[in-house]
Amino acid sequence: MSRDWNFSAGPAALPEAVLKRAQAELLDWNGSGASVMELSHRGKRFMELAAATERRLRELLGMPDNYKVLFLQGGATQHFAQIPMNLAPEGGSADYIVTGVFSRKAVSEAAYHVDARIAATSEANDFLSLPPREQWTLNPAASYVHYTPNETIRGLEFHDIPDVGDVPLVADMSSNILGAPLDVSRFGLIYAGAQKNIGPSGLVVMIVREDLLARPPRPIAKILRYAEQAANDSMLNTPNTWGWYLAGLTFDWLAAEGGLAVMGERNARKSALLYGVIDSSNGFYRNDVERAARSRMNVSFVLHDSALDALFLTESEAAGFIGLKGHKAVGGMRASLYNAVPEAAVEALVQFMRDFAAKHG
Ligand SMILES: *Cc1c(COP(=O)(O)O)cnc(C)c1O
Repeated sequence: MSRDWNFSAGPAALPEAVLKRAQAELLDWNGSGASVMELSHRGKRFMELAAATERRLRELLGMPDNYKVLFLQGGATQHFAQIPMNLAPEGGSADYIVTGVFSRKAVSEAAYHVDARIAATSEANDFLSLPPREQWTLNPAASYVHYTPNETIRGLEFHDIPDVGDVPLVADMSSNILGAPLDVSRFGLIYAGAQKNIGPSGLVVMIVREDLLARPPRPIAKILRYAEQAANDSMLNTPNTWGWYLAGLTFDWLAAEGGLAVMGERNARKSALLYGVIDSSNGFYRNDVERAARSRMNVSFVLHDSALDALFLTESEAAGFIGLKGHKAVGGMRASLYNAVPEAAVEALVQFMRDFAAKHG
């Protein structure tokens, strides 16, 4: 068996230690005589797992007590639509900061359920930069401000949490949650599809401030209401038990590795190494994102001659690297450096890139 260095944007690499533990426990989980996938979510064992998983996440983030944690389904995309249903009244308004493909999708899905205003966007600059905070035209009466701290496709990241006053800040952290320490108290709601930095697809982790759950409900189905999910331990219906279990293993692994401060330092080193090779390649590789907004999680780059793209992909795959093809919306390459990608993988990749440039430059 051999595992490649996996730079996929999502579903993405999982920590090898997590996969091995899942493998070891697959047939007989926790002395239950069955796989975790084969047991009732309402059984004592699974309820304990759910509680321990939430506890671990709270510890990792130092989460204040006035936040609820939900383990939901539907992917981040479903919550693009569900968030306005839950946080805004009928006829209400919400502000969106549009800095890439995912925030643009978030605002367009939200527009079915709320007056979704674009308060700032860098679309005219092809999403290569972040709109400066002083240019945002925020509505103080908005139900919330939504933004995407890390745009996965371009590789564009806010390195500071924007100040939006008293309006609750809502963040799609699908591709950067747990990549570094985070001050949860600055947010009204945080959500993340699990398949980038947490576990398998099919699970959404949501962190929501309690007062937002108390907003007067719209006439929406119970299954769509976050307050109902919170009141029912995210078990209004059968949850993704397997995803929940793997998320718990990942949280345990993060704690064992030293927590989010250690992850943040590692991710900073990994991305600095890769950007360094791109920037010092005399134009062979290029990343056009505004320096201050470069992502630590998703590093996109183009080759000076796109005719070399296919060769780069074939040779990199032959050398044991997978997932380097850029998103079709922007082309080129992208290396995603989530927590589960070890520093050794990035060291191997930059060596490959130097050799490739020397050979074809
Ligand atoms: C991957 C991604 C999504 C889409 O997630 P799904 O779970 O497929 O709906 C949304 N937002 C961001 C920032 C992402 O990286």
